[in-house]
Amino acid sequence: MPSSPPPSIHWFRRDLRISDNPALLQASRSADAVVPVYIPSTWQEHHSWTGPNRQSFLCQSLASLAKNLETLRGRLICRSGDPIRVLEKLVRDTGATAIHFNRDPDPHGQGVEKKLQAACVEWGIECHGFHEHTLHGPTEVLTKSGDPYRVYTPYSNNWLSLPKAEPAGKPGMLNTPADIDSEEVPDLGHWGLPKPAEGILEGGERAAIERLNTAVAERISDYGEKRDIPGTAGTSRLSQDLRFGLLSIRKVFTEVSKALGRARSASSRKSIETYIKELAWREFYMAILHHYPHVLEEEFNPDWRGLPWDEPGDLFEAWKNGLTGFPLVDAGMRQLRETGFMHNRLRMVVAMFLTKDLHLDWRLGESYFMQHLVDGEIASNNGGWQWSAGTGADAAPYFRIQNPWSQSARHDPGGDYIRKWVPELKDVPAKRLHEPPADHRPLAKDYPLPIVDHKKERERTLAIFKKHKAAK
Ligand code: FAD
Repeated sequence: MPSSPPPSIHWFRRDLRISDNPALLQASRSADAVVPVYIPSTWQEHHSWTGPNRQSFLCQSLASLAKNLETLRGRLICRSGDPIRVLEKLVRDTGATAIHFNRDPDPHGQGVEKKLQAACVEWGIECHGFHEHTLHGPTEVLTKSGDPYRVYTPYSNNWLSLPKAEPAGKPGMLNTPADIDSEEVPDLGHWGLPKPAEGILEGGERAAIERLNTAVAERISDYGEKRDIPGTAGTSRLSQDLRFGLLSIRKVFTEVSKALGRARSASSRKSIETYIKELAWREFYMAILHHYPHVLEEEFNPDWRGLPWDEPGDLFEAWKNGLTGFPLVDAGMRQLRETGFMHNRLRMVVAMFLTKDLHLDWRLGESYFMQHLVDGEIASNNGGWQWSAGTGADAAPYFRIQNPWSQSARHDPGGDYIRKWVPELKDVPAKRLHEPPADHRPLAKDYPLPIVDHKKERERTLAIFKKHKAAK
C-alpha cells in the first residue's frame, strides 16, 4: 500500500473531456491525486452493435484525452477486462478510497453501475455517480401525474420551461501517481476491427469545440432553412461529440442560448429555437429508453408487436450497398458507408424505405446503423427507427408513408447530394433523378433499375398494417 495520501479514481466512460466534467471535477476536489482510468470494452459486449467507424473515433478521442490530461499532470490509465474486476484491482494497487464516474444513459451501462455500487460497499470505499449526459434526467421531466411522457410536444414544452445548469470549468492538477501500470491507449487492433471509413470526422475535445464554434457562428441561425437540405452544411454535426461526451450538453446549450440572445432577426431566433428543440428530441428518446427499456427488443406501441416482416435477402443487400436504384436512398446509404454519418433527412428516408418499401424489420436497420454510425446512440437510433417504422413513441402514423421520389425532388432538387455520393449519376439531369425511369432503362451504366415499385409496395404496407390492427 502506498504511503502518500489515498487518491480518487475517475472512471472515464462516455465523458471523454476535461472541461465541465462533473465527476472528474469532484474527484479532483476530493483528493490531492486522481487516477483517471478508461476500461476498453471486450469484443463480445459490442458484437453486432459497433464497427470500425465508431471505434476509430473513440480511439482518436482517447488519445486526445490522454494528451489533455497531461496538461493537468494527469495520466490516462487504460486497463481492459470486466469493469468491476479492473476497478477492484486498481483500488488495491493505488489504495484509492473513492471512485467517481458520470452515469451512463444506456441500460447496459446502468447495470454495471449498480454492480459497482454494491462492490464499493463491499470494498469499503466511496462510490459517486453523477448525472451529466443530459440537461434533464429522465425522472425530472414528467407529466403532472408523475408519469413519463409518451408524446414529444408536451415533453419538450416542459423540458424547455425548466432552468438549465451552466457548465463548470476544468479541474485543478490531477497529480496521477507515476507508478500505476497501464496498457497502451487502445487502437482498432484491440477489437480486431478492419479499416474504418475514410471520411470520419476528427475525434477529441479540441476538434469538438471547433465544431461547436462553427455551428454557433455559421449554422444555427439558418438551421430552420437549411437543416433539410442534405447537399449543404446546414446542421451542427455535433452528434458524435455528444455521444462520446467530447462536449458537455451544458456547454452546447449555453453557447446556443447566447447566440439566441444575440440574434437580430425573427428568422434567426426561430432557427435557433428549432435547433434547441432537436436537443430536446435527444433527451426525449433517452427518457423513453429509460422508462421503457423493452423498446430495444420490441415495438414501443403494443399494437404493432408481431408484425409480419419479410426475410432479408437480396433486397437487404441492395439497401446496405446503396444499390436500390432509388438515387436518394443510395446516396444516403453510401454517405453512411463512406463517412460513418448520414444526414437526418436521409436517415428517415432510408429507414422508411427499408420498412415500408422493402417490408424488412426495423431491427435490421437499427443494428446496421449502430455498426456504421460514428454517432450511434442507442436511444436516438432506436427512437428514429421506431419513428420511421411507425411503431415507436409519437411515431409517424403507419399510413403516412414517405415517397422516396418526392422526398428526392423536395430535398435535393438540383441533385447535388445525390451526385456527390452516387458518382455514376453525375451526368444525369436533375429531373430524371427524382422519378422512376419512364423508359425502364437504367439511369447510367452500372446503376440498377429501381428494385421495387414504390406505389405497389405502399399499398402492400397499408394492407399489412391494417390486417394486423384488425386482428388485435
Ligand atoms: P443537428 O440537426 O445539428 O441536431 C443537433 C443535435 O440534436 C444532434 O447532434 C443530436 O444530438 C440531436 N438530434 C437532432 N435530431 C435528433 C433526433 N431526431 N433524435 C434525437 N436527437 C436528435 N442521432 C444520434 O445522435 N445517434 C443515432 O444513432 C441516431 N440514429 C438515428 C436513426 C434514425 C433512423 C433517425 C431518423 C435519426 C437518428 N438520429 C440519431 C437523429 C439524427 O439523425 C442525428 O442526431 C443528426 O442527424 C445528427 O446530425 P447533427 O449533429 O448535424 O444534427
